[in-house]
Amino acid sequence: MLRSVILAASRSSQVERLVATAPFTRDVVRRFVAGTGTDDALRATRELVADGLTVTLDNLGEDTVTPDQATATRDEYLALLRALDAAGLTPAAEVSVKLSALGQRFDEQLAYDNARAICVAADEAGTTVTLDMEDHTTTDSTLDTLVKLRKDHPSTGAVLQAYLRRTESDCRELAGAGSRVRLCKGAYAEPESVAYQSAREVDKSYVRCLNVLMSGAGYPMLATHDPRLIAIGEDRARWFDRGPGEFEFQMLYGIRPEEQARLAGEGYTVRTYLPYGEDWYGYLMRRLAERPANLVFFGRALASKK
Ligand SMILES: Cc1cc2nc3c(=O)[nH]c(=O)nc-3n(C[C@H](O)[C@H](O)[C@H](O)COP(=O)(O)OP(=O)(O)OC[C@H]3O[C@@H](n4cnc5c(N)ncnc54)[C@H](O)[C@@H]3O)c2cc1C
Repeated sequence: MLRSVILAASRSSQVERLVATAPFTRDVVRRFVAGTGTDDALRATRELVADGLTVTLDNLGEDTVTPDQATATRDEYLALLRALDAAGLTPAAEVSVKLSALGQRFDEQLAYDNARAICVAADEAGTTVTLDMEDHTTTDSTLDTLVKLRKDHPSTGAVLQAYLRRTESDCRELAGAGSRVRLCKGAYAEPESVAYQSAREVDKSYVRCLNVLMSGAGYPMLATHDPRLIAIGEDRARWFDRGPGEFEFQMLYGIRPEEQARLAGEGYTVRTYLPYGEDWYGYLMRRLAERPANLVFFGRALASKK
């Protein structure tokens, strides 16, 4: 219930104005977001890589409504990839891209062209691109774009969301050799017709999908902070004899950093999803919806009136 309210608020420009201008917001945002500019992103990437982690960078922004905004997002990514390359941070750092930020909602061809330009720049920089997955109305379009991009850029990563009923079947489709697939639970409010509603059903689906990916020929990227699912991931890695370079764990910046360090210390590849940029509102609200206990941070910051 609280989750749905927070996710509804994530689409409200009135609430956005309220949250964005509140004096305490800065501290809360800082916990989950590297900063607003490319320099902040590079600094945080350097620190994470020095700690033995790998990184995927997300230039925050989604649901652009004009071609100019979409082109500006593309250009941000091109500049970021050049900067990562110049700083010697590739291939430890790749990028995650939302097609809605590249124009998907009003011009799929434009979104594809922009994503392709980012894939070309990533190839030149010696790294990879992963296409984030958004709400279920975009799943087919995103997977179609993935198939097109993979023709010239086979390392382009997909994201599949275990809460969608279709995902086990999508995992089978995408478990082929060389296929990079991030498996996550899913972060949007979805109707019963397309998505499992209870945490238990989502977890069971996650395990079925994880089994398909880990027993397949691709490169699974297990994106979760859930201790039980991480333990199952470790178990399946042993069972299917996958070494550290043959799959990876992924977690979000600022969430369970000790667990990220523990897994990296065990020799696993661990990738931190590192968001940066001005447009942090939707991202922050999804993190709050996942764990309403995070509202306590808001509460504390509000109480201290910083
Ligand atoms: C690398 C990465 C990429 C992602 N990409 C996408 C994507 O493209 N599309 C998409 O829909 N979703 C994406 N997600 C989000 C994902 O779908 C989930 O919403 C999110 O990861 C929470 O699910 P969980 O598996 O961690 O399990 P949960 O059951 O939500 O959490 C398990 C435990 O993790 C900790 N935890 C989880 N979330 C938080 C939080 N916000 N703050 C503090 N602690 C927390 C808590 O200890 C919690 O008990 C991504 C997640 C990761 C890690």
